[in-house]
Amino acid sequence: MIAKQEQKIWRILEQVKDPEVPVLSIIDLGIVRNVQLIPISSLKGDVQEVRLTITPTYSGCPAMDVISMDIRLKLIEKGYRNISIQQQLSPAWTTDWMSEEGKQKLKAYGIAPPNPKQQFCKEEMFFEEAVQCPRCHSHHTQLISQFASTACKSMYRCVDCKEAFDYFKCH
Ligand SMILES: [Zn+2]
Repeated sequence: MIAKQEQKIWRILEQVKDPEVPVLSIIDLGIVRNVQLIPISSLKGDVQEVRLTITPTYSGCPAMDVISMDIRLKLIEKGYRNISIQQQLSPAWTTDWMSEEGKQKLKAYGIAPPNPKQQFCKEEMFFEEAVQCPRCHSHHTQLISQFASTACKSMYRCVDCKEAFDYFKCH
């Protein structure tokens, strides 16, 4: 019974989008670590508290406050009243937590998806990373700016097709 209700919440969370990359849901991003329904008794009878654990894509990511608020609003809209959202910083989020579907959506959106195994990410490695152009799939690309429209992305230019594009970088 509880498990079924928790599944329902996971499905609702699929409707909450990443404010920076609106094609991605927070489920695609893999930042929701845990969903729990805790029965609590109140004067109004038995109600349940929705307890969520989310991990920011990097610590101090300004989008997290917006995401927490969007989660709350979406759950309230669906009739949930007792919501608590905890942030868990460890283990740190890695781009491996992103769903395959999420990576495909990013590519379709014109943003190069993160390369796998970036948990060993170091700035030096990042500069030498071969980022694939989402338009012509060439690896012949150059880093233009480490910060694109938001801190979570950096900007690249494809040497072959001259397209400038954002790369969802490692954190
Ligand atoms: Zn290209």
